[in-house]
Amino acid sequence: MSLTIRKMQKYLKEKYKRTKPEDMKNTQRYFLKLIEEVGELAEVIRKEQRMEGNNIKGTIEEELSDVLYYVLMIANTYDIDLEDCFRMKEELNRVRYGHQLKIDDIQEDDEK
Ligand SMILES: [Mg+2]
Repeated sequence: MSLTIRKMQKYLKEKYKRTKPEDMKNTQRYFLKLIEEVGELAEVIRKEQRMEGNNIKGTIEEELSDVLYYVLMIANTYDIDLEDCFRMKEELNRVRYGHQLKIDDIQEDDEK
């Protein structure tokens, strides 16, 4: 099953609504966590620690996921639809940098 940014945001919103509703507007905390995770990402990139098999612990794959998690959480605290924003921003960049490819030229594919 494909996982869209919109679905990830909805999942996290639902998860925190059920468990810690008081955390849902904690933008500053999520921002600090994001910076912390960016630091962890820097370290694993420097050490070139890639995932082997299904062991994600201490890898670039893990830290990229952590960074994405906090980006999504921050967007949720503002009720920002990141899928819409990414689409708009890519269109601006496409025009600005003269690229031909549009985001909807890419077909969604359930297979890896
Ligand atoms: Mg981490």
